Formats: sequence, C-alpha cells, structure tokens
Amino acid sequence: MSQVHFNQWRVLCPHCGSESTVRSSKQLSETVREAKVQCNNPDCAHTWIAQLAALRTIAPSMMPNPKVFIPLSPRSPAAQPPADAQLELGMSFPHPRMAPSG
Ligand SMILES: [Zn+2]
Repeated sequence: MSQVHFNQWRVLCPHCGSESTVRSSKQLSETVREAKVQCNNPDCAHTWIAQLAALRTIAPSMMPNPKVFIPLSPRSPAAQPPADAQLELGMSFPHPRMAPSG
C-alpha cells in the first residue's frame, strides 16, 4: 500500500496561484504538521509556512491515542442515529394485515 505524504498535495501559491513545492515539513503535535512551501513561479518566488491539521473525525480510529481528541464531524456516519433506532421507529407503525391471496 502506498502512503500519502504531505508533499504529494497539490499546493497553490496564495499570491500568484502557481503550483508550489513543499521543501520541508515537521510534526508540531499529534494533530498538526507544519510545512515550508515555495512557489514554483520564478517571477513570484513566494516562500511560506503552511499547516496541515486534523480537524474533524469521519470514522473513529480502531487504535485511538488517549492524548488525541479530534471532534466528530456532523457528517460522519458515527454521528448519525444508530440504524436500530430507525428500525424501532419503523416497527412502531401498525403493519397492515396482508390479505391471503389465491
Ligand atoms: Zn507565487
């Protein structure tokens, strides 16, 4: 399996919009990584620090780190009511009696 690295991101220069290159990066905490990015456009040559941070959880970790708290995304399936609650709601409606056929 190939691992996704931060420098594979397509980073655009905030000033001229050109493709830019991550020159170096360092981990600041369990959830934040900082990168030095350089614009590929020689006429611009902007160099800046960018940040990659874990903001919301879509699917909870199967190996949670007790030091890490990343709030659950409201769009996460884990934030939705459990499926059996919907089943219970469906069961509360009276079932129409099926007329014997034939
Ligand atoms: Zn630029």
